[in-house]
Amino acid sequence: MDVNGGSYENDYNHKWKFQGNKELNNASIFSIRSVINLLTQNIDGNTNRPMISLAIGDPTGFKSYRTTSTAVDAVVDSVRSFDFNSYSPTVGVLPARRAIAQYLSQDLPHQLSPDDVYLTAGCTHAIEVVVSVLGRPGANILVPKPCYQQYEARAAFNHLEVRHYNLIPEKGWEVDVDGVEALADDNTAAIVIINPGNPCGNVFKYQHMKKIAETARKLGIFVISDEVYGHLVFGSNPFVAMGEFASIVPVLTLGSISKRWIVPGWRLGWIVKNDPSNIFNKTGIAESIKNYLDISSDPATIIQGAIPQILEKTNKDFFSNIIKMMKEAAEMLYERIKAIPGLTLPHRPQGSMAVMVKLELALLENISSDLDFCLKLAKEECLIILPGVAVGLNNWVRITFAVELPTFEDGLGRLEAFCQRHAKKQN
Ligand SMILES: *Cc1c(COP(=O)(O)O)cnc(C)c1O
Repeated sequence: MDVNGGSYENDYNHKWKFQGNKELNNASIFSIRSVINLLTQNIDGNTNRPMISLAIGDPTGFKSYRTTSTAVDAVVDSVRSFDFNSYSPTVGVLPARRAIAQYLSQDLPHQLSPDDVYLTAGCTHAIEVVVSVLGRPGANILVPKPCYQQYEARAAFNHLEVRHYNLIPEKGWEVDVDGVEALADDNTAAIVIINPGNPCGNVFKYQHMKKIAETARKLGIFVISDEVYGHLVFGSNPFVAMGEFASIVPVLTLGSISKRWIVPGWRLGWIVKNDPSNIFNKTGIAESIKNYLDISSDPATIIQGAIPQILEKTNKDFFSNIIKMMKEAAEMLYERIKAIPGLTLPHRPQGSMAVMVKLELALLENISSDLDFCLKLAKEECLIILPGVAVGLNNWVRITFAVELPTFEDGLGRLEAFCQRHAKKQN
């Protein structure tokens, strides 16, 4: 009861002074999760067909994609040691930083030091840190189109303008380097590349990466290289770390154990300076990263404690088995798409966990867009795939192939049935 004897519940006119964040709530960006929710809601509630999702890169639900017992043992040992129950230093515990420096140096012409490594709560947090550090009114970064949307979503919230350069499907999703030069100006800080590529499933060639490095140098900007799918490759192009070109241009490499070890829930990632000329120190970027981490949350210390064992002891067979399964599914997709009306896959997937497939809307009856395609597919076939709009490319869809083969085959069968049914009759 309030002072007037009325009830609080009925006092509709009371003036509250707080409100939600407009910048967040007006964000026009589709997050992958929100799109998937929308599609899942569209599933026919009367069907008893199990839903199949080829929409997200998290195969932890499949038995054959279980992480290695080496990783599990490492976490158990870390917990049992009682050495990792404290808060960690904001940059991460030294043994973990040392192990990551060692692990990544295997791919590099230079030796990383633990001081080059900052631990984060997954690669998502690494993106948050880097984007936040660069955010200031007027500044911009160059981001690929299509792209993993986290960059854009974060930037929108951090006063950082995003400018899109194209990845060219006809060239195996190489960077449109001329386009990059045309986009950059005096307020450009960095170019983001994702290699192996999400959402395109491509892997950059050495010479192309060198060209990206030289272009960035010419423009006076650095490279943010998202290598969260590092080593998850199975095609003709080997994985090359962007840090290879650090003598040309400074590189911040972002990564995590989420994808290669199939433990996205463990939330352990990193930001690594590949910078033999110490440019990140001279420009204050290194200091800003440290300062941001001082006021941000850390990955769980017990997972940090497990990192040396995870990185040093994981058997090669674990990795090769995962890659073999993904390659089988990716090859099946590539072959079967050829017979599906309205869909084309411009090149063989080479890595990561997903690939972009083009929709030929002119060949399909009663489908107005990629989102419409995915909504109807969910409704009619209980199959979820990601519309291109969720990664910034209309009239394409993204299909995840990190899926157990029988499920994947079932999913492709449904996709084919759907496209056959919606194919325009030839006359
Ligand atoms: C999955 C993914 C991330 C996020 O990785 P987490 O370690 O799970 O936070 C970042 N970038 C790309 C390109 C991804 O696909």
